[in-house]
Amino acid sequence: MISPKEDIRSLSLNGLASFVESIGEKSFRADQIADWLYQKAVDDFDGMRNISKPLLHKLKDEFTFTPLKVKQELISEDGTRKVLFELSDNETIETVLIPTEKRVTVCVSTQAGCKFGCRFCASGIGGWQRNLDVFEILAQILYMKKYRDVTHIVFMGVGEPMDNYDNLLKAIKTINAPKGIGIGARRITISTCGVIPKIQKLGTEGIQLELAISLHGYNNESRNILMPVNKKYPFKDLVAAVKEYIKKTKRQVTFEYILIKDVTCSDEAVKELRKHLKGMICKMNLIPYNPVSEFDHKPPSRKEAYQFRDALIDMGVHATIRTPRGRDVAAACGQLRHSTK
Ligand code: SAH
Repeated sequence: MISPKEDIRSLSLNGLASFVESIGEKSFRADQIADWLYQKAVDDFDGMRNISKPLLHKLKDEFTFTPLKVKQELISEDGTRKVLFELSDNETIETVLIPTEKRVTVCVSTQAGCKFGCRFCASGIGGWQRNLDVFEILAQILYMKKYRDVTHIVFMGVGEPMDNYDNLLKAIKTINAPKGIGIGARRITISTCGVIPKIQKLGTEGIQLELAISLHGYNNESRNILMPVNKKYPFKDLVAAVKEYIKKTKRQVTFEYILIKDVTCSDEAVKELRKHLKGMICKMNLIPYNPVSEFDHKPPSRKEAYQFRDALIDMGVHATIRTPRGRDVAAACGQLRHSTK
């Protein structure tokens, strides 16, 4: 059987340079191809207008180009654009473009579905289908680049980035490279539900990425209820791994913390967090629960949310409440994908 061709965007920039060299072409050709792929975001080989016909033929012989198919596209009143893409095997993923005054962020999916089944998240409801390929991760950003100059990337779409670690890191190298998409590492955030071995591995990569940890529970018991992953990687081990990561990388880490009425923002929660986060320099991003019909939770009132934030600030935590974006287009994690299944 002939093995299927690889999408050219799954190739690293070094791999592209080696290929170009191996067929006897000058090395600047690799830079030109990369410019078409990652700056001009072309959809096919024929769009590469300064590349000679013979070289285009060689590229087509070796690689494919699989543009993502748009299944649904919604634009919110606040400018947030949400796209549901269909992949070549009919799996779907979603991507969100979030423009604000100072930045234009793309929220990227890394898997079709999710294994981790957090008890508030729409992405896990239908289970896990597969990992995304490198080009499928990159193509989400390249699609959005047609609308706006993208300044920031957050891996907060469908799936657990650390569960698709190798493809994630390969994609990040192309996102970050000046000859690739060219977005600085400090503008790229990986969000994880707490896969400890991969947090440790990331600490050795030597890239200045932003790391966000979905904490959500205030101690082991509360995290066990909300996030089944806590049974494998318990609260205390996770906090210890984060401290180690901070020590090693000298980078600040953000905790994401969901605000669910009577569940995560009680007086007990404040007391427990004070105990566990003592002495840690960290940021806490408070995310008001975005209702998903399969779960019974409710978000707290505005007043309760601000009281909780203030209690965290009092204990020295740099806490902020995340402004919900694109509510009218179901822009929270996995909601659109789930609703169309
Ligand atoms: N798997 C990664 C990325 C998930 S999405 C992770 O767990 O971090 C990014 C954030 O949205 C996570 O913190 C996730 O827990 C949160 N989230 C998921 N469903 C939510 C909901 N219904 N309301 C508010 N936040 C939610």
